[in-house]
Amino acid sequence: MNSDFSGLGPIDLGDAPTPDGPDRSGPVSEQGPGARIHAKVIIVGSGPAGLTAAIYASRAGLEPIVIGGYVPGGQLMITTEVENYPGFPEGIQGPELMELFRRQAARFGTTFADADVERVDLSARPFRLWAAGAEYTADAVIVATGASALWLDLENETRLRGRGVSACATCDGFFFRGKEVVVVGGGDTAIEEATFLTRFATKVTIVHRRDQLRASRIMQQRALANPRIGFRWNKQVVDVLGDDVVTGVRLRDTVTGEETDEPTDGLFLAIGYRPNTDAFRDWLEVDEKGYLVVHDETGSRIEGVFIAGDVHDHRYRQAVTAAGDGCRAAIDAERWLEAQGIPETTAAATAR
Ligand SMILES: Cc1cc2nc3c(=O)[nH]c(=O)nc-3n(C[C@H](O)[C@H](O)[C@H](O)COP(=O)(O)OP(=O)(O)OC[C@H]3O[C@@H](n4cnc5c(N)ncnc54)[C@H](O)[C@@H]3O)c2cc1C
Repeated sequence: MNSDFSGLGPIDLGDAPTPDGPDRSGPVSEQGPGARIHAKVIIVGSGPAGLTAAIYASRAGLEPIVIGGYVPGGQLMITTEVENYPGFPEGIQGPELMELFRRQAARFGTTFADADVERVDLSARPFRLWAAGAEYTADAVIVATGASALWLDLENETRLRGRGVSACATCDGFFFRGKEVVVVGGGDTAIEEATFLTRFATKVTIVHRRDQLRASRIMQQRALANPRIGFRWNKQVVDVLGDDVVTGVRLRDTVTGEETDEPTDGLFLAIGYRPNTDAFRDWLEVDEKGYLVVHDETGSRIEGVFIAGDVHDHRYRQAVTAAGDGCRAAIDAERWLEAQGIPETTAAATAR
């Protein structure tokens, strides 16, 4: 995530979006109130899954439209250094990586609409989607809307994201070698993240607002037996301390209301993710955590609607796995369209 996590020195990138804002380059789809636009493939979401799907679909001649969200680029827009995406031995800034994805998709004929899909009608083909007042129709849809990490919504937490505040231990734990960190949460994810962080940090303190964990018994036992993991029970983080980097957290006792400051080098939020499924949840199956359910590899319960990335994957949650998923969904969509007798086109997004 943030190269400066390693030395916790000065950094040159602010928190999200980037100082210049998200990359909005590339051909823009005809859009705006009243517009009616058709594409063989519409991809909803412009994170690693959506843009990889766009690269594959556009190279297959399908001239897809990416309706990529009002703030395009996905979760990597709120991070700095990405060190585990293959092909970048020196690491790459998250927003820069997403800009490269977008340029690559644009190169092969993808067009973009930086808007949120507000609602869809998947009852018949072509499928219908509405975004920013425009109506889109598509023969196939790839849903790659990702998931949003839940934050505490504290001002200093937002300010210090990428400067000691993270929501991804797999991504950022490496930067905390020899340091002390706090993990917020009490479920399985919090214990998993805390246990993983003990590979790097000398001390991991789990802050939980209750006096017992929600995590499964086996996970609890593992955490309680780990000498590097400590607990602050009945506490909630009410502020994050530090000017340029995190130096501590302010805790409030949920029983007595007393406030204390806890020095730490990092704060990891493990209070859950919210999959971005609002526009689709009436049509597609969701599991008990609200993630979309895939059928037959990347399919959904509606033929012609495919799913990719973190919107269904709560196990791996990595850019490379999301990108791999986007590739799979695009190949599946392409083969499905071909089977329907809708081959690749030479006419781009023809208005109907
Ligand atoms: C702080 C942080 C640091 C991370 N660091 C790393 C790292 O170093 N390495 C790594 O591999 N992974 C990292 N990750 C995880 C990685 O970012 C995700 O796994 C990956 O971005 C998932 O890609 P995705 O395309 O499935 O979804 P996302 O990246 O979440 O993208 C979803 C897209 O869908 C759009 N969208 C949502 N709703 C709608 C809608 N209704 N209409 C239109 N568009 C919509 C959003 O605007 C966004 O463009 C990090 C995550 C976080 C939060």
